[in-house]
Amino acid sequence: MLSIVHGTTGALIASKIPNPFISLPLIIASHFLEDRIPHWDVSQGLTSRHKSKRAAFFQELFFDFPLSVLLVYLFFQVGRPFDWRPWIGWFVGLLPDFIEFPYIFLNRRGYLLKQFARFHSWSHQSTPNKFWGLLPQALVLLTILLLSP
Ligand SMILES: [Zn+2]
Repeated sequence: MLSIVHGTTGALIASKIPNPFISLPLIIASHFLEDRIPHWDVSQGLTSRHKSKRAAFFQELFFDFPLSVLLVYLFFQVGRPFDWRPWIGWFVGLLPDFIEFPYIFLNRRGYLLKQFARFHSWSHQSTPNKFWGLLPQALVLLTILLLSP
């Protein structure tokens, strides 16, 4: 899914479950579970080859990624004292994508990275249909907004 969904999901779990031994594995699991839901994301073109890696990279860097920071701030920090938990949750929520970054964009293909990327792409169910691909993500975001403190 988009970073805006993974990041805010991580922030929600981290802010609701104070024990990191429970929350951090849950956040990692949530990433792969969310990727199992057929969705549209910026890397869509990478698999269908209609979009260049470069275009996907810039879309991620200038749109999805900064927006995920903004949403965590809006959902979890506005009007509240600074809390590091949602930010740790945001980071861990995006960690599987950060780990895959050198594989996709820098062509680093070490053994472990390859195995990880294989598992990640196995868990990844995507659809090129923007409406049906964005709807579940909008619903998850709405749910997070309702559950956020
Ligand atoms: Zn992912």
